[in-house]
Amino acid sequence: MELETKNIVKPGEHVSLDDYVPGYTGSYTKKGQTKRRLKKLHKQLLKLQELLYAENQRALLIILQGMDTCGKDGTIRKVMAGINVQGCDVVSFKVPSVDELSRDFLWRAHRAAPPKGKIGIFNRSHYEDVLVVRVHDLVPAPVWGQRYQQINDFEKMLVENGTVVLKFFLHISKEEQKARLESRISDPTKHWKITEADIRERAYWDDYMQAYETVLQECSTDWAPWHIVPADKKWYRNLVITECIVDTLRKLGMRYPEPTADVAKFTIDD
Ligand code: AMP
Ligand code: MG
Repeated sequence: MELETKNIVKPGEHVSLDDYVPGYTGSYTKKGQTKRRLKKLHKQLLKLQELLYAENQRALLIILQGMDTCGKDGTIRKVMAGINVQGCDVVSFKVPSVDELSRDFLWRAHRAAPPKGKIGIFNRSHYEDVLVVRVHDLVPAPVWGQRYQQINDFEKMLVENGTVVLKFFLHISKEEQKARLESRISDPTKHWKITEADIRERAYWDDYMQAYETVLQECSTDWAPWHIVPADKKWYRNLVITECIVDTLRKLGMRYPEPTADVAKFTIDD
């Protein structure tokens, strides 16, 4: 079965999130149907990651954004299960520190960007600076207003210097968020996951949707497009994202580097 969702936002395309169904699962109806395919993709991902590491010419930056409970952590756990941890760094973007706030907003993102040979995952990212910052007026509108272009320029620079940038918006419905927040309240093993901020932020749902629509519209570029991932069903979300990463790495046409010595002449002593 092929995935029918290729929800890549075209540059300049108008985005209305109402047009995207968070519960979409393509031609699949349950998790079990995706297991074999996901297993195969994981095997391919492991090989491709090794090639990326061996080639040491490019980096892959994966950006995960979405509302609270949208599954950023779960995606990292599931999609990256089985890859070599040595070749992957995860960076979570929290409320900026005093030090971070004393720099330009892209400073911490640039510092955290993956070096050649590695996969870097941003759990939230520089996009918070046009999302939470915009929703809560943390800086004046003319300041965040300039940031879309600044982000596009920054990402272009990364791409021109050998980083592949993949951006995923994990799209959940407001109802699904309610269910996930409720389970964090009812299940004592999930209490650590819930904060007052999660409850507070939910009240700004519509403002966030607007802010996301602007991001998807303004910052989906030829060099770093946004992918809108239906994320109400975790298993489908995992499949879509894993497939996209594998496809992207495969298309790079990576090669193992030439040996630096005449390997044929090597003999190994007993
Ligand atoms: P969590 O992802 O649940 O660990 O929460 C991290 C929190 O940090 C979220 O509420 C984000 O909105 C917040 N955050 C991340 N980046 C920024 C930023 N640039 N400015 C303000 N808050 C931020
Ligand atoms: Mg949270």
